Amino acid sequence: MLCTKCNTENEPGVKYCINCGAYLYGVDNIKREKKSSDTSVIAIISLLIAIGSIHFFVFSIILAPIAILLAIVSLAEINSSHKKGKELAIVAIIISSIIAFIWIILFLAGS
Ligand SMILES: [Zn+2]
Repeated sequence: MLCTKCNTENEPGVKYCINCGAYLYGVDNIKREKKSSDTSVIAIISLLIAIGSIHFFVFSIILAPIAILLAIVSLAEINSSHKKGKELAIVAIIISSIIAFIWIILFLAGS
């Protein structure tokens, strides 16, 4: 990590410059970057669609598969980019699976 005051190259993760003793902001910046890794938007959308398909059950035959698909896409995104929201995607898959299960029962009961 490069010191902003004297341009000395310091070991990564060091808090203070070995040459001039200046505080190395990079340490905090790394922490902030990790914190700012935000929740996967696709995971949020998939959960919203899953919840929406409970509310508008008539449309859930279309919405539930979309929610499952988006949740799977978001899980792949979360794994590759270390985003948050894995729980949301899993909840979305669980809700959608239950809805899909209900639809299967309804079809079997109807036929
Ligand atoms: Zn320095």
